[in-house]
Amino acid sequence: MEQFINFAYIIAAVLFIFGIKMLGSAGTARRGNLISSIGMLLAVVVTLMKGGLDYTWIIAGLIIGSAIGGLCAKKVQMTGMPELVALFNGFGGLASVLVGWAEFAKDPTFSGDGGKIVGVAVVLAILIGAITFTGSLVAYLKLSGKIGGAATVFPMQKIVNAGVLLSIVVIGILFVISPSAGLLYFLIALSCVLGVLGVIPIGGGDMPVVISFLNSCSGLAASAAGFVIFNNVLIVAGCLVGASGLILTVIMCKAMNRTLANVFFGGFGAIGAKQDIEGEMKAISTEDAFYVLEAAQSVVIVPGYGMAVAQAQHVTRELGEVLESNGTEVRYAIHPVAGRMPGHMNVLLAEADVPYEQLCEMDDVNPTMETVDVAIVVGANDVVNPAALEDEGCAIYGMPIINVHQARTVFALKRGQGAGFSGLVNTLFFRENCRMIYGDAKETLTNLVAQFKE
Ligand code: NDP
Repeated sequence: MEQFINFAYIIAAVLFIFGIKMLGSAGTARRGNLISSIGMLLAVVVTLMKGGLDYTWIIAGLIIGSAIGGLCAKKVQMTGMPELVALFNGFGGLASVLVGWAEFAKDPTFSGDGGKIVGVAVVLAILIGAITFTGSLVAYLKLSGKIGGAATVFPMQKIVNAGVLLSIVVIGILFVISPSAGLLYFLIALSCVLGVLGVIPIGGGDMPVVISFLNSCSGLAASAAGFVIFNNVLIVAGCLVGASGLILTVIMCKAMNRTLANVFFGGFGAIGAKQDIEGEMKAISTEDAFYVLEAAQSVVIVPGYGMAVAQAQHVTRELGEVLESNGTEVRYAIHPVAGRMPGHMNVLLAEADVPYEQLCEMDDVNPTMETVDVAIVVGANDVVNPAALEDEGCAIYGMPIINVHQARTVFALKRGQGAGFSGLVNTLFFRENCRMIYGDAKETLTNLVAQFKE
């Protein structure tokens, strides 16, 4: 039986790896998701076939967990998806804390198989798991707007954080040498505090890095939990999540032109430097915008978080189609941190069946921007803000943007004069070549499509 289970685990691990590989391209992503899910189902089923399990608790956990998960997934709005993902990461971390705690309750002296190594794994599962849990809760609160998105800094913050980390290391070592319930509770409490302290100083537009980093941590915590209970597939799956999350973190850092240390210790975006902006925002009606679009040879559509809020992805694709049938070259330019979670815009445009070949990376579209007749910004703000290139004092300075300001004409679709996620006013909207089309993005786009069809 043991051999059969380990063989099934290897198959599951192979399915995870192929699944993740297929997630790398929009064309194969759906199949990749399915293949990984089959791997997970296999891992769960064979794990349940292990001897000595108390099925009453497992079934109770399954029923309660599925009910809560099912309810959340049903109730959540599409715009709440990023917050839900942050919560999922957090609960993954909490699960690892509970696994570590349960192992200590079962064998409080770590005298069974593995000895002190299990003690080390328990400390790691609790440390990384608790940081992931409370860090993700703070990320959830920031993403859902329940607390301000800006960085929270206080005097001697780095020294306080370093002190907490040092205490955790000392308590962790003492716990492994001489385990006790008191030290365990201290370890859990301080790790929870470190999670909060680690995420509150991160604000501005840096949250994408935090989200992907916490995702990576939830994998590492699961992997440590795998070492605690000697479960090979949990170790492998945790490492895969940890590694892919880390790769994503690096991609997000590159997309924002920041280093990880800079994001975690920079406290950027805390001071709202006064922005000196000349000019005024000029509005245009959809009727006038239609005439400009009708005559355009090339159009680039740049989606942002507002497209997700308006659920305008389908009508965005419709506008692309009517423009194409009018002889216009249409491309969609996606910024890596647009929206509120990594890949947010890719998912929405794929859901609306936008042809993959029309999707352009930022680095490919930017060199051609001067030849573009019209750039249509659908609810994007920070990712097209030229202040990131020009204003050294601003919270997103240095972040590469989609250079729509270089297009001949820019139409910015948004409801009002609200700032972007980073809280900055967008200098693009004050430029001579930019016209605002105020209103809900879905309504504006529907109106434009209707005029093309008339
Ligand atoms: P922003 O959040 O900067 O701007 C979105 C804009 O959409 C707002 O200015 C808002 O203006 C407009 N909007 C909102 N609702 C509607 C609607 N119904 N119709 C039309 N417009 C609407 O979005 P971006 O995508 O440009 O930038 C993403 C930001 O989020 C970056 O700062 C990024 O760092 C951050 N972030 C990204 C994460 C990721 O993983 N991708 C995670 C966490 C944060 P108005 O209110 O006037 O309508």
